[in-house]
Order: sequence, then structure tokens, then C-alpha cells
Amino acid sequence: MNPADTINPDRLLATFLELVQVDSPSGHEAEIGLHLAGRLQDLGCSVEKDEVGNLIARLDGEGDDSVLLSAHMDTVGEDWGIKPVIRDGIIYSEGETILGSDDKSGIAVILETLTSLHEQHHLPHPPLEIVISVGEERSLWGARQLDKSRLRSKWGFVFDSGGPIGTIVYSAPSQTSLDVTVRGKKAHAGSEPENGINAIRVAAEAIASMPLGRIDAQTTANIGIIRGGEARNIVPDRVTLVGEARSRDEATLDEQVRLMVDALNDAAARHQASVDIQVQRIYHTYQITPDQRPYAAAARAFETLGFQVRPKMSGGGTDGNIYIAAGIPCVVLSTGMADVHTSDEHIAVQDMIDAARALITLLVLEAQSE
Ligand SMILES: [Zn+2]
Repeated sequence: MNPADTINPDRLLATFLELVQVDSPSGHEAEIGLHLAGRLQDLGCSVEKDEVGNLIARLDGEGDDSVLLSAHMDTVGEDWGIKPVIRDGIIYSEGETILGSDDKSGIAVILETLTSLHEQHHLPHPPLEIVISVGEERSLWGARQLDKSRLRSKWGFVFDSGGPIGTIVYSAPSQTSLDVTVRGKKAHAGSEPENGINAIRVAAEAIASMPLGRIDAQTTANIGIIRGGEARNIVPDRVTLVGEARSRDEATLDEQVRLMVDALNDAAARHQASVDIQVQRIYHTYQITPDQRPYAAAARAFETLGFQVRPKMSGGGTDGNIYIAAGIPCVVLSTGMADVHTSDEHIAVQDMIDAARALITLLVLEAQSE
């Protein structure tokens, strides 16, 4: 039997619909973690949970080199009570919430593949290491906390992208975060404004003089949150800013961050304000080449099933950035998720099925070519 034909579309759909109805906004993953640990155990995996809630499951297989299969269990934002609806083969959320296909579709694809392998004992596959992370939507927090020395995999796949099935994300940028506090001086805005230093004005001047948005083909920058002030008639003494810069080029990224920091320091100096700037590298850029194992294996599986291989450079980070930095080359594959992080989020049932068909094909081909 063709391994791809062992994928059960109805079962995969049922798994997905069940998963999106278990609430798991970032920071609230206990229930879904328990659910997933149980399912992975039922499929013959040994399951560990680390200190922050990441799940690491392992399944024995043929050959020496374990393959990492990764997805994240948290969903973005604070949406609870997600109700999926299906119209013309596409799953949406009912109402104003996200759907959570980012990244429950990745988990569903992995679970369906494991279920097929569990049923079809004759199908060979390499040893598998499944990591389902928490807190991915908070700057890859869970994967960053994970002790990577626990991982045995030599290479792997992250199921956390959109696009047609066949998409292979082989490159993503570095990201640096900026957390800024501007301190001025409080004063009554009507009776003694000259005694105050307006932190909102300092922040505004700094932001206005920063290069932001699309900097070049490789580089972007953003100020995403500004908070400050107490009352109409108080000169505000404190503003906080949250921003970021991303680039595939490390030197350009460093230069962009320097310009943002300089803009803040210059504006503070003009007004005798002070500024505290925390700059943190969140993740590192990577590039996986077509001859590297995950890229080549994914391409072979897609070609076997007749899907066009679509190499893609991503503008966003995934847990893959973290695993690659830890020495485990990965590519990120599409599950068909679309318009993620919005209430228009949706996914075609057929895309998830095709993603699972590709995964099981990939694993069986890999074991057969060992
Ligand atoms: Zn995601």
C-alpha cells in the first residue's frame, strides 16, 4: 500500500477540530499539554514534559538518526472558546476569534502521521522525536527555554507555515527585541509645565526619527507598543516602548538597532530625559540549502506525490530558528494555514491531509533509503 494512502482524512479532521477546541493561549497550555501527552503515549511514544511545559516524545524506529518533528501547542493572543465551522472544505472560526490552525494544524498532521504508523506496523520509519513547544507566539519562549542538549535528533521538520503544500521554508531572519523606558519629569501641566520633562514628547521625537517598516529586502523594523501618561493635566514622566528589528543580514541588523538606539539617546539628550534600553537577540537567521537533509527529503516526498516544490524565505521566526541554532538543521513546512493571527484565519481540510500524506511519505522513503 502507498504510505500516503494510510492517512485517514476523517480522523485527521476530527483530531484538528478537537485540538482547536481545547483553549491554549500562550501561557495557558496545561490542559492541551496533558491532552497531547496522553495521545502521544497512546501512540506508543515515551513522553517527557520539561520544566516549562514543552513536550518531548520519542518513538523508536529504524536507523540511528532521530528525526525531529516539531509544532507548537500555544495559540496567539487571548482568544478563548474557539468554535470551528466548515464551509466548502475550509475550516474557519465561528465569530471573532482566531481559528488556532497556527499551530494546531501542525500538531494534527504529526498526530495523524503517528497514528497511521502505529496502525501500519509494516511501514518503516526512522526514530522520531516529537517536540511540541509552549509559548511559541511569545518570541519562541518555550523553544528558547528548552534544554536542547536533551534532543537526540540530527535533523528535522517544523510544521508551522502557510502556503501551498510543497512550500519549504529554508531561510528566516534574525530578530532583535528592544524594550525601552523613557523617563522624564512629572509636573502640573497648567501651573508649572516648565518644571516637567515630557516623556511622551521624547519618545515621539525618537520614534519619528527612526527608520522603521521595510528597511531593505532583508530587513524590517517596528515599534509595536507605546504606553505612558497618567492624566490630561500631568506632564508625563514615563513611557515604555516595545519594538523589534529583523534581518537576514547580521551587519544590517546591528546597524538598524544602532540607529534605533541612537534616536532614543539623542531625543533623551535634547530634553534632559533619561532612557533605559534593553536590546536582546531573540533568534538567529539561518539558511538551509537544497542539498541538506531536511530540504532534500522534503523535496523528494513532495515530488513523489506530485506537489510542486516551492522554496520560500520567511519574514518570521519559528521554533526552527532555535533548533537550527542548536545544531539541528530543519526546514519549515506548510500545513495550509492562512490569515493567521486574525479572525479570518482558515485552513483547507485537503491541505492538512496533503501535509500528512507528504510527511508519512517522507518518513517511509527515508527509512527505506537508510
Ligand atoms: Zn505558529
